[in-house]
This record gives sequence, C-alpha cells and structure tokens, in this order.
Amino acid sequence: MLENSNISSNIIKPKVISQFTYYIETYGCQMNVSDSELVSNELEKIGYTSSDKIELADLILLNTCSIRDKAEETVHNRLNSLHYLKKNNPKLLIGVIGCMAQNLKNELLDSKPYIDIILGPDSYRKISEIVYNRNNKINHIVDTKLSKYEVYDNMYPSRNSGVNAWVPIMRGCDKFCTFCIVPFTRGRERSRTIESIVKEINLAIEEGFVEITLLGQNVNSYKTPDGDFPVLLEKVANIRGVKRIRYTSPHPKDINVDVLKVMSKYDNICKNIHLPLQSGSTKILKMMNRTYTKENFLNLVKVIKEYLPDCSLSTDIIVGFPGENDFDFQETLDVVNKVEFNFSYMFKYSSRPGTKAAQYTNQINENIKQERLEELIELQNNIRLKVNKSKIGKIEKVLIEKNSKKSDQFWSGRTDGNILTIIKKNNEKVKDIVDVLITDAKGLSLFGENINNKGQIS
Ligand code: SF4
Repeated sequence: MLENSNISSNIIKPKVISQFTYYIETYGCQMNVSDSELVSNELEKIGYTSSDKIELADLILLNTCSIRDKAEETVHNRLNSLHYLKKNNPKLLIGVIGCMAQNLKNELLDSKPYIDIILGPDSYRKISEIVYNRNNKINHIVDTKLSKYEVYDNMYPSRNSGVNAWVPIMRGCDKFCTFCIVPFTRGRERSRTIESIVKEINLAIEEGFVEITLLGQNVNSYKTPDGDFPVLLEKVANIRGVKRIRYTSPHPKDINVDVLKVMSKYDNICKNIHLPLQSGSTKILKMMNRTYTKENFLNLVKVIKEYLPDCSLSTDIIVGFPGENDFDFQETLDVVNKVEFNFSYMFKYSSRPGTKAAQYTNQINENIKQERLEELIELQNNIRLKVNKSKIGKIEKVLIEKNSKKSDQFWSGRTDGNILTIIKKNNEKVKDIVDVLITDAKGLSLFGENINNKGQIS
C-alpha cells in the first residue's frame, strides 16, 4: 500500500487519456457537492469525461460523509453493491473520497480490498496523478494527510449547469462541538484569499450562474489579512451579474452586527440565514460546546430582526443528545415556537466514535429519541405551514430555477427567503427574478403568479 508522502516515490506523471469515463456519487453536505465539482474538473484535465451510467464508468468515486452513522452505512452498502461491477470489469477503478476516507480508511481497506483509491478532503489536488498511476498498476493508493493550508485556490470546479454556483470560501472547523466529527475529518480552519474567490465568482457569472452561495464549515469564521466575512460579503455583492447571494453555514457565535449591516445594505444578499440551534437547552448547549446559551440565541434572533425585519431563519436541531431530559427537550420546543424557523433539519443524535460526546455515559434510549424527533417534526411542520400561509396575498421576488417536477406548465423557483415556489409559466425564463403574488401554501411550497405581464426581469 502506498500512503501519504510515499506517493511521489514511484509515480508516473499523468498525461491526457481520452477514452475513460468517470462517475461521482456525492453524499452529505454542500461542501461535498462543491468538492465533487473540483474533482470532476481535475479528472477532465486528463481527458476523463463524465458518465451518467455508473455501470459504464471506468472510474467510480464515492464522495462520502461521516456526520451520522446512517450516512456511513449507506456508503458501506453502496460499496458492497459495486463489488460485482469490479468482478465483471477488473480494470474498473473504485475510489472513496471525503470524510469517510479520512475517518475510516483502515476499516475500508480491511473490509473492502477492491477499493483502489482512498483520498481525504485535503488531497484532491493530486487526484489526476493518483488515478493515472493506479491505472498503471501502482498499488492501492491512500492519501489522507490533512493540511493547514489547502484551500484549493486556483482550482476551478466543473459545475453542472444551473442557477446557483457553490463557492467554498473557507475549509475546516476549530469549534469542536462535542458531537461532531468534522474537525477531525476536515482539519483546521483556513480561508481562501478574497482575490481568488472574486475571480472564481466572475468566472461562474461568465458561465451563466446568477446565484452565488458562499460555503464553509463555519462560513462566517472567514478571516484573511485583507478582510473578514463582512468585507468579503460586500465585495461579492458588488460583483456585476450576481443576482443573489446566500451563505451557509454560519455559527451563531460569529454572526455580528457588521454582517447584518452588509446584508441590509445590498438587495442581492438574500435575507435568509441558516442559524444552527442544535438544542434549546442551555445545559445541553454547554455539553455540546456550542458556546452560547438559549438566551444568547434568542437575543441574536432579536438583533437579526432589528436589522433585517423580513429575514427568514432556518436551523439544525439534534434531539436525544446524551443527558437530554424532558425539560431540556421542552426548552428546544420553546425556542422553535418562539423563533418560528421557516425550515429545519432535524435529527436524532448519532454517536460518532472519536468525539467527546461519544464518551458521555448518559446516552438516550432510541425510542425516546424517536418520540422526541416525531414531536419536533410535527411542531416544525405546523410552524412552517403557518409561516408559509402568512405569505398568501403578499408579493415575493422569485428566482426562476427550472421546470416544476409535477408539470412543465409551471416553473419552480425560490423566494429571497429560500422557500420553494411554483408559478404558472408566462413569458419568464430560467434565471429571471420575477414579482410573484402568493396565492396558496401547501406542504413545503408556495404557489403564485407572476404579476408582471411581460415577466418583470431583474
Ligand atoms: S461548528 Fe460544530 S457542528 Fe459545525 S462543523 Fe464545527 S464542530 Fe461541527
């Protein structure tokens, strides 16, 4: 096996090969989606072309996630099912990249020796070299060395066409929430230069993207000698052709007045913040090492509403964290009731080996976790519907994204507050921002009509 720094010992430099195809399957967060785009571009540089049929690909990469045990189990099952493809085609290369590669490399190699390549999230710059060499019969290749500096500056992603371009601005996390594996799989925080981010956004605009989502494990921990997150946000807002800007995910502790002032100053920065709560109990928040209390969080929401009265808020919530009793859970429901998030990712706590919380003794019974999750989901769904219904009769600016899944007579788009909206087709087109009168709210979506006959385009 060849590992880490040994890679350079007997490598053959890549050259362009044109007959091969690749297929990438991406699991987990938007950072993985963005990383898959980077990896695609590196493979295309050596002549690989993208295949949409996994059974015909010469190289299959699974870009993996370790955030919950279920995500890992899904990848293990997928890898088992790929084994038969390898038996039929011994030349097929199978690679595992992303957080599981970082976290579980030994387990993967022991249990699935047919995996050819294992690359951690800081090793993608070498992927074309590694794939080329593996094609030339160099042994299994593993590179999971984390870097203090790697931000993939000057590597441009191969994006699928669409409206939104994901643009990573920083990588890693220094927060060490006790339930989270990310600081171990993604390493320390480091930020890209403003110059390289602006350059990438300009290229994305040239390619036809109109919405930019700034990405980072802790997006507002962004820091460079040339400026911090509010400075970057303002620079991006001033780039010609950027119709909408979103960012994800911030840490509540790092949302400050400067960020809110920049958001209020620019129409093209969406008034929508994903603000991960995780728990409403100050006791549990402390055990999670989230560095804020229930009161801090509620006060932050108040400040956000002062600067951005119409700002919509979404969140992440974990139920059944070790030590969470009924009172703690009620505290979470209390915050959900008070804030009225318009969307929430809700999960049962999943113990991650290697994290501090995995060692806590007072783990919660699965049935209790399930009951709490169901209660929370029901509450959140009702709130969401109430929030959505409050939009009926109002005018929302909707960015047209694509045909609606249900009918090509309708468009699917999103409001500034990130609510999925279905509108009957008129003479708008994809990437237009139109004024939509909201006429109904059902399930997760709003329904409405473009009030500008000719489709008022911005
Ligand atoms: S802030 Fe906490 S939850 Fe988010 S990536 Fe860092 S450690 Fe994980």
